[in-house]
Amino acid sequence: MPEQFGAFTASELYCPNCRQSQPVRERLLLVLPSGELYEYLCSQCAASLGKRTVSGPNLSTPPRRPVRIPGKLS
Ligand SMILES: [Zn+2]
Repeated sequence: MPEQFGAFTASELYCPNCRQSQPVRERLLLVLPSGELYEYLCSQCAASLGKRTVSGPNLSTPPRRPVRIPGKLS
């Protein structure tokens, strides 16, 4: 069994409230200059199970901020 955990988005995490592994939902917490901070929530009880920072080319969502093009000074 290939060990791929950590190479991509976790789909299940252990939830202490449910006392078992549960599917998680990703929620965007913060948009940082260096990336985006996501929080994992238990899909059963909505407990916070962890956080993850997505940065650079690993961004799973397209940037929502307008791209500022330099050189418009006249
Ligand atoms: Zn739970």
